[in-house]
Amino acid sequence: MEVLYSSTRGSSEKVTASQAILKGLAEDGGLFVPGAIPALEKSLKELSAMTYQEVAYEVMKLYLTDFTEEELKNCITKAYDAKFDTDVIAPLVETKKAYYLELFHGSTIAFKDMALSILPHLMTTAARKNQITNEIVILTATSGDTGKAALAGFADVEGTRIMVFYPKNGVSPIQEKQMLTQKGANTSVVGIYGNFDDAQTGVKKLFSDKELAAELGEKGFQFSSANSINIGRLVPQICYYVYAYAKLLAEEKIADGELINVVVPTGNFGNILAAFYAKNMGVPIGKLICASNDNKVLYDFFATGVYDRNRDFVLTTSPSMDILISSNLERLIYRIAGNDAGKNAELMAALSGQGKYEITEEMKAGLSDFYGNFADEAETAAEIKAIYEDCGYVIDTHTAVASAVYGKYVAETGDTTKTVIASTASPYKFTRSVMNAIDEKYDALSDFELVDELSGIANVAVPNAIEEIRTAPILHDKQCQVDEMKDVVRAFLQ
Ligand SMILES: *Cc1c(COP(=O)(O)O)cnc(C)c1O
Repeated sequence: MEVLYSSTRGSSEKVTASQAILKGLAEDGGLFVPGAIPALEKSLKELSAMTYQEVAYEVMKLYLTDFTEEELKNCITKAYDAKFDTDVIAPLVETKKAYYLELFHGSTIAFKDMALSILPHLMTTAARKNQITNEIVILTATSGDTGKAALAGFADVEGTRIMVFYPKNGVSPIQEKQMLTQKGANTSVVGIYGNFDDAQTGVKKLFSDKELAAELGEKGFQFSSANSINIGRLVPQICYYVYAYAKLLAEEKIADGELINVVVPTGNFGNILAAFYAKNMGVPIGKLICASNDNKVLYDFFATGVYDRNRDFVLTTSPSMDILISSNLERLIYRIAGNDAGKNAELMAALSGQGKYEITEEMKAGLSDFYGNFADEAETAAEIKAIYEDCGYVIDTHTAVASAVYGKYVAETGDTTKTVIASTASPYKFTRSVMNAIDEKYDALSDFELVDELSGIANVAVPNAIEEIRTAPILHDKQCQVDEMKDVVRAFLQ
């Protein structure tokens, strides 16, 4: 059955999956959503015998219905290959506390690789299918991890260029170095004087700038987005929740049909939304536990039904979650409004006008699958130390937020359902924060000394992504004010 996509802010525009991937955002500023969430066709038992790539195909074919089998399998094969340092792509690590689903085995050691290693292939395939001859320009705002993963995915991909904006003082030193050393003639990296929300709002403005689009169209360019609002990112993220359940089943850790809970360290609400879609496809998931850091706008939202971004933006040791506007939440809002685009558009207008909105009582009832909480900086550090000491397992700061929130959930509810925690980054990406949490004495060491020290205590080899940047030259040095972003884009496309 053909799945078509419409905007969360107006139902008139209906596009195919490949068109939605190319556009990124709908014309009216809304996000593309499928007409209905499809149900899995294969049983979880059948899926449990499959490889990651096979499960990915079974999930993605249900959403990307205008891709042929050959096209889709080709994208999957190119994406989930030896770029990943393990054949299983997304291993589950069992500890005393939970199952950690390691989503960081791709080329940039953060979970963004799970979707961004396939997005360029989906996009160039989509361009071919739609007879697009323009060069596709990917504009991306990043809180640190998307940027590098998108750069790595699109570098030297024919027919594309990529420009990444990141908050100059809002990413970790390793994250920054990873981006600034990116090779590829079609890549550009720009630090902005502002925070992630400024970068994201700036990019959204460029996308909806009709004048700029016309000007670039004449030169043979068109914009697209690699941000997590693109359904070409959302759909590949659903796969690993299906896969995780199937693997627990294959290893007889759970019985067929047994409910599991899922905990996700959340920023833009993309990853947890993918888990919600997996649940709605038929994966037996109980609670979706949404973990925030000190930027706890989502925790407050789940507690009160009021989404309010009018607050101080806090820089934390989990920078990829330092976000006050969780873009993908819009897809959930639309759904709990009964797929009412008018109602959703009204709330989103309030968000951009007054910086807040409140959902109705009826809509609140639609949030019962979710539980929200947050972990502050001290709790996050304590969690890293505790998991290391109790289990000999080193987790990164983002995963630690999730793990700490999971502890609060169990203490509060007594619910001991088996649980999968999305482990979204390698500890090597946030080495200083991780090592300081384990022992303050490490603060005296340099970034790369810390890397070696971590390798010793965690008994895990230093990933390639880190080895590479030890000596790599800096290739990008552009910075700009938020209101200069448009000129910087123009200059890049000269
Ligand atoms: C992006 C990111 C997150 C947040 O994911 P969302 O999909 O934006 O909610 C969490 N942890 C890490 C390491 C990330 O890179």
